[in-house]
Amino acid sequence: MVSIDPTNFRDNTREQGFTTGSTEEHRGTQGKATLISSVFLCVLCGERLGHYPPMDATERDLFRLQRERMVRMQLAERGIRDVRVLEAMRNVPRHEFVPETFRQEAYEDHPLPIGEGQTISQPYIVAAMLEHLGLQATDRVLEVGTGSGYVTALLLLLCAEVYSVERHAQLAALAESTLHRSGYRNVKIRVGDGSQGWPEYAPFDAILVSAATPEMPPALFAQLREGGRMVVPVGPASSQELQLIRRIGGEPEVTFLEGCRFVPLVEGTVDSG
Ligand code: SAH
Repeated sequence: MVSIDPTNFRDNTREQGFTTGSTEEHRGTQGKATLISSVFLCVLCGERLGHYPPMDATERDLFRLQRERMVRMQLAERGIRDVRVLEAMRNVPRHEFVPETFRQEAYEDHPLPIGEGQTISQPYIVAAMLEHLGLQATDRVLEVGTGSGYVTALLLLLCAEVYSVERHAQLAALAESTLHRSGYRNVKIRVGDGSQGWPEYAPFDAILVSAATPEMPPALFAQLREGGRMVVPVGPASSQELQLIRRIGGEPEVTFLEGCRFVPLVEGTVDSG
């Protein structure tokens, strides 16, 4: 279900764009030059997202091997220990969530453009966020910043219910079709300003915010259940720190995790249709 929140609709297309400053960088990032040139290539070619030629068995096997190597070298060797997270990342076909131009780079150690000036996060930071959330199979989770839908797919494997909010109508629609094509069901995606959360489905056991905010949005904390956890990149646009925020006795208990760089959490919605 992709529903558009009419109360919060604003055309922000001109404020968006592929800028190197809006791409995401994390620990161990390599191939920045590749990413930047790929971004321009994507713009120049007018890459249409979401159109994939069929894959043969050899290609699928190759991607499986790349995924296995990603899990071992980028995640396990860097300290990701949660076996459920490792298993989920071994299973979700990340290449399905990136534009075709970047498919061959899908399992590399850096973020990639997904259109609308946004990026799919580096595998390591995704795994770190999921691990810090300490997700249980029974959890109801809110995701802010659906983007490609890749993290949504991982959450669907790890939790019972996933609610995801994305401000770009086109990205939300594409993420939903990718998830359906890859066999993921039972996800609720909404076009809206994720900093306001999704009050109808609150409280949540966990909240994962995939965009950077100068301060933790109070509306999100309000939608966390007692004992609930939120992972959010907090800080200025240039760089942030990943924070784990737990709701203990109604108050936030903050743990600083590591430095990171995400695209910004922006108010309002975009229908670039
Ligand atoms: N987890 C995503 C990462 C997407 S990048 C993935 O796996 O692909 C961050 C996303 O947050 C972008 O798609 C951006 O459009 C979205 N975003 C930024 N501000 C937002 C807001 N206020 N509400 C909802 N989504 C937002």
